[in-house]
Order: sequence, then structure tokens, then C-alpha cells
Amino acid sequence: MGFEAILGNRRLKENLTQSLSKGHISHFYLISGPEGSGKHTLARLLAAAILCRSGQKPCLHCGPCRKVMDGNHPDFITVDDPEKKTVPVDLIRQARADIYIRPNESEYKVYLFPRAQDMGIPGQNALLKVLEEPPRYGVFILLTDNPDKLLPTVRSRCTELKMQALPEGELQAALSGQFPQAQPEDIAAAIARSGGFLGQAQRLLGEADQLQPQTRAFADAFSQKDPLALIQLLAPMEKWKRDALAEILAAWLELTESALAARGGVRAVSPLARRIAASRSAGEILEAVKALKQALDYTQSNVSPGAICGYLAWALR
Ligand SMILES: [Zn+2]
Repeated sequence: MGFEAILGNRRLKENLTQSLSKGHISHFYLISGPEGSGKHTLARLLAAAILCRSGQKPCLHCGPCRKVMDGNHPDFITVDDPEKKTVPVDLIRQARADIYIRPNESEYKVYLFPRAQDMGIPGQNALLKVLEEPPRYGVFILLTDNPDKLLPTVRSRCTELKMQALPEGELQAALSGQFPQAQPEDIAAAIARSGGFLGQAQRLLGEADQLQPQTRAFADAFSQKDPLALIQLLAPMEKWKRDALAEILAAWLELTESALAARGGVRAVSPLARRIAASRSAGEILEAVKALKQALDYTQSNVSPGAICGYLAWALR
């Protein structure tokens, strides 16, 4: 199996496979790359490879491999609290103490730090003490979308694995398989805006896929310049709570903003945004953007949802 689940990144996968087959395991890995570049997938496969009991690592079939992939291997520990903005230094100190307790069932104990850029200086200093003198079986995998936020003393101790952008053909093949409903131009636009990273393109296409019915209806009414349809759409929303209204208006704002960008030459992923851009002038879209921003501001004050919907029926006509 190896690292096949990661697309592209051929040299990185070859180097890892080669060093693992020779039993060369680094104590510290730093996996860097933007959001959606596959850092988490690589980290999991790497942990599986380190804990794997089979010849070709990771085999993804043996007990340890499966436990890692299922997230319940006792020697694969994630150090984070996603609720907190900064990774709490206490958690890092706990991990630092825990690492001196021998592995439960493997030859290694692997610690994953999913957002090393958010460890803060005290956290990194706490980590540094282990980095200087790790136990023989200790492995740390740090993930970051911004390696420059790490102390040079931390970074220099790590084997850095840098996720690379994928070639267009490879992205296209993967995305057409995963989004069979998407039009070729949606996929092309997502690729153009993804920076070459699969996760980013998936997110863009997924968002375009999951629009609320009201947002579709808004795009229809606005691009067809149909004031009656707009009124029919807004009338039931007059009874909504402000929060629900704000949520939908934010989606409309995003849509009109990307339509405006599309008029300026940026390829829009959403077919709805492209349709608005094709049927309305830049000036008209700009007016809609302004009106939606104003309406969103109203949802934060004590203007009633009824008055907000009335304002929009007039401003977006
Ligand atoms: Zn295995």
C-alpha cells in the first residue's frame, strides 16, 4: 500500500518509503503545506508506517495500521485542543511527561501536533526540551501551514516534508471521480483557484454543491431580473429569526461577491456566480453587494427581519 493514498508528491513518497524500508525513522518530522494539501493524511500514513508490523510499510492491513487509521492506537497520540486558539502549553507539558512512559504495544510512540504554528513560544519551548533529548522510541510529527511561525531551534531539529502542489491532470482526474455531478467548467475553476491542492479544490466544489434552496432561488431571481420572484422569496423570510436571516444573507453576499470577482476576470467556481456575472452588469452586482452588506449590518442591530426583507426587495430589484 505505502503512501499511495497521497496524490502527486512522488519524490517525497519515494524518499519516505526508502528510508522507512531501511528502518531509518526520524524523531521529529515537520509536515508543511497549506490547508487542503494533504498534511493530515500524510501524518496518519506516516504514523501507520512507523507502527506497522508488516514488510511494506504502511501495509494498512495489519492490526497497528488499522488502529492508526481508525484513530484508536494507544501509541499514536494527538496533542491539541481544537476549542482553544493556542494549543495549551499544559497539553504539551503532559505529552512531554508521557513520552517517558514506554510504548503500550509497539516499538515506538508517536505524537501528532496538528497545528504546530499555534503552539506559541512557551509551548514550543516546552517541546524543545524533549527535542533536545528524546527517548529512543519517541517520534513527533508536527503539522503546519506556516513553518515560519516555528522557532528556528525547533524547525532545525525536524525532518521537513513539504507538501507539493499537484499537476492539473492529476487533480482533474481525482475531482471528476469525486464530483460526478460537477460540470467540467466548475472543476476547471476549482482547480484554477485551489493553488494545486486537492483539499482546497474539494472544499470549493463541496461548497458550491451545498447551497441552501433560498440561495439558488435568489440567484435565479437576481440573474433573471425578476422582482416578483424576489418578493416571493423574501416574504416568508420576514418571519425568520435574525440569526437565520444573517446566515442566508451572508451566503448571498458571498455569491454576489464572487459574481463581481467573475466580472473582473476571476474564474468563479460556483455556476450560480457565473450566471449572475453573465446576466448583470458590474455596477448592478456592486449595488447588490452593498445592499446585502447593509442588510447584514441591520441583522446585527434591532431592525426587524420584516423591515430587512422589505429593504432587500426594493434594493435588489
Ligand atoms: Zn501495517
